[in-house]
Amino acid sequence: MGANDLPTATHTIAVHRPASARAASGSPTPAWTIEAIEALFDKPFMDLLFQAQTVHRQHWSAGDIELAALLSVKTGGCPENCGYCPQAAEFDTGVQAGKLMAVEDVKRAAQAARDAGATRFCMGAAWRAPKDRDVERVAELVEAVKGLGLSTCATLGMLEPQQARALKDAGLDYYNHNLDTAPEYYADVVSTRAYQDRLDTLHNVRAAGISVCCGGIIGMGEAPVHRAGLIAQLANLDPYPESVPINSLVRVPGTPLADSDPVDPLDFVRVIAVARITMPRARVRLSAGRQQLGEAVQALCFLAGANSIFYGDKLLVTGNPEAQDDARLLAKLGLSATRTAVSTPEYTA
Ligand code: SF4
Repeated sequence: MGANDLPTATHTIAVHRPASARAASGSPTPAWTIEAIEALFDKPFMDLLFQAQTVHRQHWSAGDIELAALLSVKTGGCPENCGYCPQAAEFDTGVQAGKLMAVEDVKRAAQAARDAGATRFCMGAAWRAPKDRDVERVAELVEAVKGLGLSTCATLGMLEPQQARALKDAGLDYYNHNLDTAPEYYADVVSTRAYQDRLDTLHNVRAAGISVCCGGIIGMGEAPVHRAGLIAQLANLDPYPESVPINSLVRVPGTPLADSDPVDPLDFVRVIAVARITMPRARVRLSAGRQQLGEAVQALCFLAGANSIFYGDKLLVTGNPEAQDDARLLAKLGLSATRTAVSTPEYTA
């Protein structure tokens, strides 16, 4: 279908002022209030999806899905205690701590991802915050991956301003640092750092000129208001992130959140839809937990505006659908993989 061939929506689409307008006016009024976001969540499911798909087609080519690969370049042994994470040293999850991978090994993995159709290569390291010498070594990885013609992303924990600048100089396009949940629920998930630490890193990344990849996790026992609070935090970042990964909790045995109630799949689709409506020009990415969703729910997520997936058979240390299954699903739905040039803006509209 074309971009504007849908009938007129019967429900009013929430209007928010762009970040530039807010900055110009100096107004402290956020673009999105919690109440406005809760009102979106409360809409009838079909109306919400219709609105999300309408917004999506105003800003993106409808059949276009970005493929991103993710490699754990330094696994396990993390001193943080994020309740969902099998890489935290204090949880007994069977994940073995490893050292930072060698440049040649990372390069080989990036080459394989590129050959499988990935356009961006994300490197994850289980650190609380890298030391300056760690950043120097990651900068070498970034240069190597960039040299293959891939867009680069890293997730290394908290960053100081000079570290962000060093990574930018090495060619880093994106930095991932998730807000995880709403500020009010954050202490229930992790106690070794504060929400403000996350915001400070996001600020340092932005200031260095690196694009921001930032999202959260659904299914950690949060209340509906916390889901709205997470979306409000993301949507009110000025500017909002270029990439917004939405994860469904993978309940890994040995982690404190292993016994969380499973997420209602339709509630997860709602989160995708609300993210799309509130951040129309962001790449909304189906991330961890996609394996549990099944094809039909993934299709609903794409309808709700998701336009990026992690591609490949492993997501850091949890499973991800086989690349072939992904290719089959995209073909079934008539979706095609994005093959954008390196370092072009994410926005295609
Ligand atoms: S999510 Fe990141 S910071 Fe938290 S425990 Fe896992 S590796 Fe460490």
